[in-house]
Amino acid sequence: MAAENHTYRILVVDDSLLNQQMLQHILQDDYAVKTAGTAMEAVACIQDFRPHLILLDIILPDANGLDILVALKEGAATRNIPVIIISGLDSDKDEEQGFLLGAVDYIRKPFKDAIVKARVNTQIRILKQIETIEQMGLMDALTGIQNRRAFDSQFQYEWGRAVREHGTLSLLMLDVDRFKAYNDTYGHPQGDKLLHGVAQTMRGTLSRSVDLVYRYGGEEFVVLLPGTGLEGAVAVAEKLRVAIKALRVPCGDTPTSVTASIGVASAQPQVGGTPQPLMEAADQMLYRAKENGRDQVQFDAAIKPV
Ligand code: GH3
Ligand code: MG
Ligand code: MG
Repeated sequence: MAAENHTYRILVVDDSLLNQQMLQHILQDDYAVKTAGTAMEAVACIQDFRPHLILLDIILPDANGLDILVALKEGAATRNIPVIIISGLDSDKDEEQGFLLGAVDYIRKPFKDAIVKARVNTQIRILKQIETIEQMGLMDALTGIQNRRAFDSQFQYEWGRAVREHGTLSLLMLDVDRFKAYNDTYGHPQGDKLLHGVAQTMRGTLSRSVDLVYRYGGEEFVVLLPGTGLEGAVAVAEKLRVAIKALRVPCGDTPTSVTASIGVASAQPQVGGTPQPLMEAADQMLYRAKENGRDQVQFDAAIKPV
């Protein structure tokens, strides 16, 4: 179905099957839409489907929609998902309460197709603007860790610092193995979820600092280890490899997993040198790890990038 290709995912939470169908019909040409009829279904769907926007009914068989809204706004992972309330409760007081609890919009039933569409489009447009701003910045929105731009500037900085302090600087380059096949098997949204899991696992595994893992692009991550020699860096890489391999990301009822290959390089930065050879050395080791069968760490003590 064409909806598979839609970038933005919308979850409709409504206990009326008719409403679910109408909203799905209104939105499915432009968005990937899923529906949930109960709060329990909604919670499961939010985790698996990771919607960009939620249309939420207030009166549900097993909960009050406003309680779901409160829970969403309390969760770190769900706080930023915009919620539009679609409700049969049509007093101004209900509407006001919805906004107070953090809804971005309130649509009263019975709704008009064109109005729902316009209001949803407005929210998605705002989301796109936020994404653009994030792209200009240093954060990677998908994984919640810093991006390549942040890495480039930190790499320069740490290189300069190591020169001044006669220190060591190590670099890991990590690439998820056979990730294209993972996407092909489970779908792109699931692939995104996995990348998020990998990034968070890496961050959680690095005990010294949370700031030194970056999403370099696609399914590639880099880790900067200032003050760490080759041996220490290899140990960190091995820890990351094992942690990623142990990661289970649910896809419906199926736990999915991946492996990663890691290239490690280490340098004693010198005046007049550039960080580029260190990058190239790590990349070369990553290539070797792939060639050697993946799911492994590669390094070469004979390589001394300056
Ligand atoms: P290898 O083990 O050799 O690294 O194989 P691979 O399949 O991981 O490598 P390849 O470079 O062929 O494919 C990378 C895939 O990563 C293709 C692309 O669709 C996917 N990918 C890149 N960025 C994203 C993303 O943000 N989200 C998702 N879901 N997939 C992504
Ligand atoms: Mg790659
Ligand atoms: Mg890969």
